[in-house]
Amino acid sequence: MSFSALGLRAELLLTVGEQGYTQPTPIQAQAIPAVLAGRDLMGGAQTGTGKTAGFTLPLLHKLAEQPVGAHGRTPVRALILVPTRELAAQVQASVYTYGKHLPKIRSLSVYGGVGFHPQVQALKRGIDILVATPGRLLDHLQQRTVDLSKVQVLVLDEADRMLDMGFLPDIRKVLAHLPKQRQNLLFSATFSDEIKRLADGFMHEPLLIEVARRNAAAELIEQRVCPVDRERKKDLLAHLITSGDWKQVLVFTRTKHGANNLAEKLVKSGIRADAIHGNKSQPARTRALTEFKAGKIRVLVATDIAARGLDIDELPHVVNFELPHVANDYVHRIGRTGRAGSTGEAVSLVCVDELGLLRDIERLIKREIKKEIVPGFEIDPRIKAEPIVQGKRGGSQQRRPSNAPHKAGNRPGNRGQNAPRQPAGRAGSKSSRDSGRRAFSY
Ligand code: AMP
Repeated sequence: MSFSALGLRAELLLTVGEQGYTQPTPIQAQAIPAVLAGRDLMGGAQTGTGKTAGFTLPLLHKLAEQPVGAHGRTPVRALILVPTRELAAQVQASVYTYGKHLPKIRSLSVYGGVGFHPQVQALKRGIDILVATPGRLLDHLQQRTVDLSKVQVLVLDEADRMLDMGFLPDIRKVLAHLPKQRQNLLFSATFSDEIKRLADGFMHEPLLIEVARRNAAAELIEQRVCPVDRERKKDLLAHLITSGDWKQVLVFTRTKHGANNLAEKLVKSGIRADAIHGNKSQPARTRALTEFKAGKIRVLVATDIAARGLDIDELPHVVNFELPHVANDYVHRIGRTGRAGSTGEAVSLVCVDELGLLRDIERLIKREIKKEIVPGFEIDPRIKAEPIVQGKRGGSQQRRPSNAPHKAGNRPGNRGQNAPRQPAGRAGSKSSRDSGRRAFSY
């Protein structure tokens, strides 16, 4: 199928061509006509499937078809809610890029960690498409610096992640500010009962579209596990980067502290690296990402939440310096590579403490990941597993609104910081408890 068969305006087809997209991805082929037809939609799709263009292109088309009056401020006509600051900035960048040949459509992203006042000024000038994280949007609603009463289309992007991050109460509050008559689009990697309950509450006969999960489509990602002793992970990482001459690698740690530590250690070994996590100011995070994309930094070390939704084209290497506590995060992490047709490699450095976590992951992706011991980094069988110590939970750094209950313990995104995510009930997960009693064997 070609893009031209989807009914999009010529200006949008022009941009699509400029982006080098030759044909719509499966989610785009299904979502674009449905959105154009005005239907509510539930899209089961993760990042990397092309879902952003899947909702942005038809949204732009619809707004361009009905320009607002020449006088007066443009009311917000479309609202896109996303879980993280980075995703907000990226989605808005996509809106801007895809819409650049259209008659002027203004878009803005608002999220926490950056000044409130400039956002107020931008909102005053009039915005057609607002991309926002829930907390900062609520701040604007409370201060009456944004008016959502004319919203025609609502998009909830990465809804599962928003719920994981405890944003459900905020989402409900935002929904209360929207007009009843509107189109609703919800994208989520999974459709848990909680998501379905949320959707039941505000969507009208949504069309359900599901595309292959990332882990089903992950053939383009070569995955391997390098067994290694706990204390030798940093050396092994430096070795892999230099011996493989890796130019651009995204490395995941479980904690902010671990991310900083590792980045410092790499810099000391002469490898340009930086860390990106919620304790860093937004400008510092943006700068690190920009330098990474431009090739000025070779290694970007990130926590899961900070990395969520990062769109870095054709990222060749992803390293799990530590396995995530939640197996599904592994799928999200490796989804940073091998995106939309390019190949990539995901390497996990796994020590004896993490065997239970590895088993959880292999069970989830329904396959065994190949194991390769790197010469010189053989396992010392005398080293026994230790329980995995959770990172500090950023307590004093958290600023939680007094009236906003939340689920996962921390409130990341636009108000709090990225604390290591520790979903309810998983604190002493069976895997990490088990691993204390096992020796290293496959
Ligand atoms: P997303 O799932 O929205 O995060 O998109 C993942 C990546 O796919 C982005 O880098 C897009 O630029 C790219 N992309 C989106 N649509 C297409 C397409 N039709 N063909 C090739 N690449 C695409």
